[in-house]
Amino acid sequence: MRRSTFAWAMVVLVVGTGLSIALGRTLYLEESRSIELEFRSDIDQLSAVFEREVLLNLEILYALKEAVSVLPEMTSERFAVMTKTILERSPAIQAFAWAPMVLRAEVPSFIRQQRQEFVNYLIRESSDSGLQQAQEREWYVPVQFIEPLSENRAALGFDLASEASRLAALLKAMQTGNMSATAGIRLVQEPGSQKGFLVFAPLYRSASDSRTSGAALQHYGFINGVFRVGELVNLAIGDELSGDFLFEVYDRSGQENVLLFSSDELDDQRWDKEGRYTSAVFDIGGREWVVEAVPSKGFIESRRGGFPLFVGVAGIALVSLIVSYFMISVRRNSQLSAAKTELERISLTDSLTGLANRRHFDARLEREYRRAIRQGSALSLVMIDIDHFKEYNDEYGHPAGDVCLRKVADCLRQTVHRPGDLVARYGGEEFSIVLPDTKDAKNVGEACRQAVEALRIPHGSSTAADVVTISVGISTLTPETWQQNLTDLLNRADDALYQAKETGRNWVCRA
Ligand code: GH3
Ligand code: MG
Ligand code: MG
Repeated sequence: MRRSTFAWAMVVLVVGTGLSIALGRTLYLEESRSIELEFRSDIDQLSAVFEREVLLNLEILYALKEAVSVLPEMTSERFAVMTKTILERSPAIQAFAWAPMVLRAEVPSFIRQQRQEFVNYLIRESSDSGLQQAQEREWYVPVQFIEPLSENRAALGFDLASEASRLAALLKAMQTGNMSATAGIRLVQEPGSQKGFLVFAPLYRSASDSRTSGAALQHYGFINGVFRVGELVNLAIGDELSGDFLFEVYDRSGQENVLLFSSDELDDQRWDKEGRYTSAVFDIGGREWVVEAVPSKGFIESRRGGFPLFVGVAGIALVSLIVSYFMISVRRNSQLSAAKTELERISLTDSLTGLANRRHFDARLEREYRRAIRQGSALSLVMIDIDHFKEYNDEYGHPAGDVCLRKVADCLRQTVHRPGDLVARYGGEEFSIVLPDTKDAKNVGEACRQAVEALRIPHGSSTAADVVTISVGISTLTPETWQQNLTDLLNRADDALYQAKETGRNWVCRA
């Protein structure tokens, strides 16, 4: 195989392998991208389900507020009855509270009335050392009733206006008349780590019932729901949460970014933090919430198929196959053409002497004849016959005869040396020489005769000499003799040879 062919095959192999790898890699990246998109769409769906769950729970508070607004007056029994079933059915609601607005002047009577039911009732606020009696203010929004009471007793009397986050939500509810949520807060009645949030639904007293003047103070209280974020997540999508991703809920109102819920520890090594995805922001009681999710490092790997690898490997295999097939056929072709050349050579060569054979001679003579006519050049033909060769065979044996034929053939080949000349074995112990562009071949014939004689191959039964000799007949075609055909040329050479034999052999005759 030629070196350039091999080099090309290697180039195709390398380029094909490169392309296969590139294609596999592109598909791999495309797969990663589609898994990432799938992840995002999953998280968007979970976020939507979670949002719906939260809004549904807020609806419960709204319904409660509507029910309360038709009551003449709130008592602890009424509040307990109204909320009992709802609370039993709503695990995400930590508590419902009823908190009226109490002006400073009304505090003593309010406390007196409360203490008929709760002996040590006090309006309180948070401090570094826990809950303590509230400081003097214009007005308070103390928790008057709370359900379920047993788990939330600590919040009883807590002034909701005493803490910034709650106060902000209260004021907003008063201003807008809508339900208003606090930021995520740690619940006073629940020391654990679960974040909660409060939603205030404002209740107005009717205008005729106005105890005080001033628009803000027309409000007489708030139904307030305490919600657990973790429980809301659990209710909404608890079944969907897995170790595959981290699910977080943030309150992102204003400048804040408060983590409300996280399904796991963010610091863990197993998260692929590059893959963090933030879903759409949604509104909860006037606050902006958002779901964020981080896939685990194994998330993408576990969802991969084998297709990109298959394409890469199949591509390389295919390219290798094509290149191997190509190389095999190139090798086969070169073997075939070598065999063909050899066959041609054999078909044109005489096996004993290695000279051109009769067929080769005929073809060449025909070609040279036509060329001579076309170009107006001369063409000479030399016919050679070994003298008394029958006797040579008889005396020395056939094998020795063959050796002699070879020696004479080699000798003739060496004596005739122009590139266009052709020495052939005409048949038996006869040789012929085609000499294109040669007007006078006498010299060549004579050179051949002398050369064979000079071989000095002993021939005891020859009448011509004591060594092997040849007789030579020559004919020449010139522009003057063009009317002759090839057969004439051959016959004339033959006649000349016959004449040489007649003359006594070891002789050259021209036609
Ligand atoms: P002349 O001088 O008149 O040419 O006599 P000659 O004996 O050479 O002529 P003839 O045609 O009677 O004999 C030719 C002989 O050449 C006959 C044959 O045995 C021999 N011969 C022909 N081909 C071969 C060959 O391939 N090998 C050998 N050893 N002998 C061959
Ligand atoms: Mg003969
Ligand atoms: Mg002879």
